[in-house]
Amino acid sequence: MLSYKAPISDIKFLFEDVFGYYQHYGKYPEFEEATPDLVDAIFSECAKFCENELLPINQSGDKEGCTFNDGQVTTPKGFKEAYQQYVDGGWQSLSHPLEHGGQGLPPSLGMVKSEMMGTANWSWAMYPGLSHGAMNTIDVHGTKEQKEVYLTKLTEGTWTGTMCLTEPQCGTDLGQVKTKAEPNGDGTYNISGTKIFISAGEHDLTDNIIHIVLARLPDAPKGTKGISLFIVPKMQVDDAGNIGEFNNVSCGSIEDKMGIKASVTAVLNFDNAKGVLIGPENKGLECMFTFMNTARVGTALQGVCASELSYQNALIYAKERLSMRSLSGVKQPDKVADPIIVHPDVRRMLMTQKAFTEGGRAMIYYTAKIVDEIEMAKTDEERKSADDRLGFITPILKAFLTEVGCESASHGVQIFGGHGYIKEWGMEQIVRDVRISTLYEGTTGIQALDLLGRKILLSRGKALKGFSMEILGFCKDKSMISSNPHKRQMNKFIWPLSKSVANWQQYSIRLAMKAKKDRDIVGSASVDYLMFSGYIVMAYFWAQMAQAAYEKLAGEVENRDFYRAKIKTAEFYFDRILPRTKSLAKTMMADPKTLMQLDEELLSFL
Ligand SMILES: Cc1cc2nc3c(=O)[nH]c(=O)nc-3n(C[C@H](O)[C@H](O)[C@H](O)COP(=O)(O)OP(=O)(O)OC[C@H]3O[C@@H](n4cnc5c(N)ncnc54)[C@H](O)[C@@H]3O)c2cc1C
Repeated sequence: MLSYKAPISDIKFLFEDVFGYYQHYGKYPEFEEATPDLVDAIFSECAKFCENELLPINQSGDKEGCTFNDGQVTTPKGFKEAYQQYVDGGWQSLSHPLEHGGQGLPPSLGMVKSEMMGTANWSWAMYPGLSHGAMNTIDVHGTKEQKEVYLTKLTEGTWTGTMCLTEPQCGTDLGQVKTKAEPNGDGTYNISGTKIFISAGEHDLTDNIIHIVLARLPDAPKGTKGISLFIVPKMQVDDAGNIGEFNNVSCGSIEDKMGIKASVTAVLNFDNAKGVLIGPENKGLECMFTFMNTARVGTALQGVCASELSYQNALIYAKERLSMRSLSGVKQPDKVADPIIVHPDVRRMLMTQKAFTEGGRAMIYYTAKIVDEIEMAKTDEERKSADDRLGFITPILKAFLTEVGCESASHGVQIFGGHGYIKEWGMEQIVRDVRISTLYEGTTGIQALDLLGRKILLSRGKALKGFSMEILGFCKDKSMISSNPHKRQMNKFIWPLSKSVANWQQYSIRLAMKAKKDRDIVGSASVDYLMFSGYIVMAYFWAQMAQAAYEKLAGEVENRDFYRAKIKTAEFYFDRILPRTKSLAKTMMADPKTLMQLDEELLSFL
């Protein structure tokens, strides 16, 4: 049976000591309610809900899965009750705007909530999670009437929402979308087509489901420039928000898949379903992109959640499982053998999990602050500046954290030995569940092309320059030439971090030069480049956490071991994880020729 305790000390360390969240909230009168007392109460109530309600239905949900019967989907036992508790507790509305019934608390608090819920039960958390995407779309692009009709119910959690992009012929290449939207002349459209792989597309948790659908108007231009966005409810809704007749959105089947089995993945058939346009005609993809970054940060979180859950359970097991003796001398002579945690290889896996989990959480919380800034921006300039920073870091977060989340979940299985492969313990489920995270919301390959192709090469490295300056500023501030009282201890982090950032800039320039001669270098280098970038970004946050820990230890503080552990984990990261960048630097600079020179026909001789 899986266990989970919300990592409140770690969350509070990041909030208070690393990122100064209360000073950040203090800048915005809108966030005046987000006081330390309220935030602490939210953390502890959320932890209770996750540990007591969501965790117990995680493995049973995986075993039972969703059932499909004549168009109806039933979620596993306990899901509906937990969802009702979630709605009654006001969790869905936590960080949504006041004018539609939200509580107006900062989006960053919503991110912490999502982390705890997603760790306790990712499959369950996807139902309310998808709604956030639909709500953001309506909030940013919807008309006043659309917001009144749909947003209030979604904010309460009375209805849920979906994002309907994918079709059988296309997931990445949405320019191939075929779903049609015929105008009825009264402001509504008849939507017809098939969408596949729709998360939360059909279920028994709520009476209505609000689909956000990409479709083409008649005579729309080909490709991505001819796609529009529509709100299409499962059940028709009148102007007062009352549910009417069935709207011809039927669930044809659900997918039998590798993981997240309790999260339904539906085939939806739209058969002249009535919808309304949201945003301008033919600008559907652009509208989607306005909140795509936030949605992708939400998916990056899945990597951290999986890593946390796997680590917590692997750690318990590694302290209990006895096997042979430590090479450096017997550690527990009263037992028939030492626990496996004494073996350096098991430590290697545990420390890697710990470093990825806590480093990943820091990356997410740093980014959540930028999301707050976007929400609170008073001028277009402020919004654009925050948006650009978010746009640069998002592909790194999404792809890097989900890739290392998969690695961490795999270490968890390995630590359990053969028992990790057996269902009873739940460790193999974490591997299956997290595997989707590198695929949906843009595959790792697509994120990598976005980073190297658009964010680096097309923008001539502007965003990288800004982010590098931030890291180098930190390095200077904490270095031997500064007045930082911990500069001697910090030197072991500052030197390799500054060197890595300098390399990051240099390799980016070299890739840009190479790309001028050979475009294939972009595709051949991109994933290695993204992972290279990810390890450096995570190093920045480990250095920040170490600095914060030294500061705490310099004063009177309880729980000194917590801060010592932070510093030791940072040392592990710099010694054993950051050096991965050296190998990545070599492979990303390699000639694309070795990837492409073998003729397709020669790839196999079967
Ligand atoms: C469980 C689950 C839940 C999902 N939920 C939703 C949902 O709620 N709503 C929704 O709309 N969709 C959803 N999806 C769909 C998901 O977003 C797509 O599967 C994903 O975008 C990839 O698209 P695809 O499957 O068509 O793969 P393809 O686009 O066919 O890609 C196949 C491979 O080719 C690579 N590739 C493709 N094009 C390029 C290129 N130009 N350069 C380099 N490599 C390339 C990809 O990286 C990938 O490795 C879900 C899918 C699953 C499995």
